[in-house]
This record gives sequence, structure tokens and C-alpha cells, in this order.
Amino acid sequence: MRYSSFGRRLLSAFLAFWLGLSVLSAKDFVVVIDAGHGGRDAGALGNKSKEKDINLGVALKLGRLIQNNEQGVKVVYTRDKDVYLTLQERANIANRVEGDLFISIHTNSIDKKSPNRKTVAGASTWTLGLHRSKENLEVAKRENSVIYLENDFSTRYEGFDPNSTESYIIFEFMQYKHMEQSINFASDIQHEFVSEAGRVDRGVRQAGFWVLAKTSMPAVLVELDFICNPTQEKFLTSESGQTKMAKAIYNAFSKYKSDYDRKQNAGKSIDISTASSAPAVTRKTTAEPSVAELAEQDEDSGVTYYKVQFMALPRKLPASSKEFKGLSPVEYYQDGGMYKYTYGKSTDRNEIQKQYKKVKSLFRDAFIIEFRDGKRVK
Ligand SMILES: [Zn+2]
Repeated sequence: MRYSSFGRRLLSAFLAFWLGLSVLSAKDFVVVIDAGHGGRDAGALGNKSKEKDINLGVALKLGRLIQNNEQGVKVVYTRDKDVYLTLQERANIANRVEGDLFISIHTNSIDKKSPNRKTVAGASTWTLGLHRSKENLEVAKRENSVIYLENDFSTRYEGFDPNSTESYIIFEFMQYKHMEQSINFASDIQHEFVSEAGRVDRGVRQAGFWVLAKTSMPAVLVELDFICNPTQEKFLTSESGQTKMAKAIYNAFSKYKSDYDRKQNAGKSIDISTASSAPAVTRKTTAEPSVAELAEQDEDSGVTYYKVQFMALPRKLPASSKEFKGLSPVEYYQDGGMYKYTYGKSTDRNEIQKQYKKVKSLFRDAFIIEFRDGKRVK
């Protein structure tokens, strides 16, 4: 009798402990998968297929891969069937479920009049930012143009006009809170598109996509390949092609999730140590040399010189940041609230052209800029 009451108490203590643990355990990681277009919005058109169907096919396969292989992850689709959704509704869904990561899936195309229409190929992955080339702007324009299907788009989208180049200036001054995570994830997806899915590499790029601007979490948009190229269209509409593309994104997701878990756990162990009764130990913070310190001697006057700009972010990165893909030393200058990162410096245009080639292989949107008296010449 005594024993069994002890047993019961032990059991209830155990239960309370276990329940407590489940309450304390972190909430599921929420990934929002956004199949671009749908319903009356077909997206880009191929010979035999529509963008909206390819996007949905890959989105559902990706969701299934995540559900079958990852624990503690909740998959939310903005659409899981052929229905029309506005860009704003897609962002609203992601924000409402408090997504931890947003993946928008699209298929690329180029203008009907373009001579390359049947030969252009390759996958690209995009994060939010100001486009650095007309080509990048065109992709954002095309993907944003679905806004025109709404009657009252100019009030709903705060005066943003998808086809007006001037409209895109808002992306220059936007706060990119999740830039670093988004770019890291985008780079991993892009790597997988090449290695897992055998795509031509069109790189990680930036442009002003409305749907990315309005989601408050790390967010990327992929352009799988070109629907206007019959060979790629065949690949993208095939079961095996879609599976490869989904697997590529899944591999990058899986890596992102385990990095995320590692950071969460690191955070937890710090909590435990500070909560314990042991005397507090001041943690030694090893100050990494920041890029600023490397850019100090940049006050030359009376000289014109050139640098290669390859990235713009709203904040300062440490000199050893992974974001620089091994480029060193990196410098920066500030402009319009952004830190604009550069590599190389020369008064000789031919010399900087060589540097530019090197940077361009890592950052395809890199370009040469000119400084006079320590100031950028526009
Ligand atoms: Zn699209």
C-alpha cells in the first residue's frame, strides 16, 4: 500500500516533469512554402505548360520531403492547389503563422521577342534588395506584375507600381533585418541547384520582390529554370525534374534547420549557466576586427581611384564574415544608410579591371566605382 502510493507519487512527479518539459520545449519551426501564381494568374507560359503548375508541383514535393524527413517542423503552404492569391495575401499568411523561413517558388522566362528565348537556361535564387542590373529589375517587374490583377492596387500597395522603375527606389532604403540569414540560405539553395539538380548557375541575386519585402522573416525566392526554353520546360514539367528541384531546396533547408537548431541550443546552454547558483563568470568577448578598421586609411584627397563594389547591407560585418566569400581585405563606405562593401583599390583602370574579374566570379552583381577626394563619384 505504502509502496504503491509512493509509486503513484513518483509517477505523477514524473508526469509533471515530462509535461513541464513539453511545455518548455521550443515551438515547431515553421517553414512557409509559397508556390508562385495560381488560379487566373498563370505566371509565365511555356509551349505546353504554365508556370503556376510547375511551381505548385515543386512546392508540394518540397513540403513532403520536409514533413517526411525533419522533426519539429511545421509546413505551411500559401496554396496547395490551383487558386489565385494576391502577393499581399501570401505575405499575410506567412506573417500570421509567424513563419521562421519563407520560400517562394517561381519559374523564369524572358521576353517573347528575345533571340535567346529558346536557349536561355539556369536557376537563380533571390533575396530582397535593390537590383544592380536591368536584367535583375526585369525579373522583379515580371513577378510583381500580378499586382495589376487587383483593381485597387495603387492603394493596396502603397502607390507601388510594378512597372515603374522609380517605384523600386523604396528597396534602397528598406531595413533588411534578415539579410544575412536570407543570403546564406539562398547561397546554399543555389549550390544545390547546381550540384543536386544539375542546373546552370545563374547565381544569388537581389531585386525588389514585393512578396519578400512584406514577409517579416528570412525569405528567398527561387527561379527554377526557364519555361520558355523547350528543353528546360520538359525537365521542369517532368516528375523527375520537379523531384530534383525539390530535393535541392530540401537539402539547403535541412542545413538551414540544423544551423538554426545549433544556435537555439547554444542559446539554451547559456541560459542554464546564468540561471545556476554558480558565481557569474564574465564571458570574454573576443572582438573581431571589423571592416571599419581596415578601411581607415581611405581619406586620400586630390586622387581618383577605383574600387569594386560587390555588396550593400544595412549594417557592418566583421572582416572575417562568411558573407565576403573569402575576399580580403574588404572595405566599405556608407551611403544612404547602407554599408557598401568594396574590394581592391587602384588608380589604374586596367588594374581594377583585373580585380573586378576576380570579384565578379564570386559576386555576379559586382561593379566598378570611382572615388575622387575620398568620395564616391556617381
Ligand atoms: Zn513567377
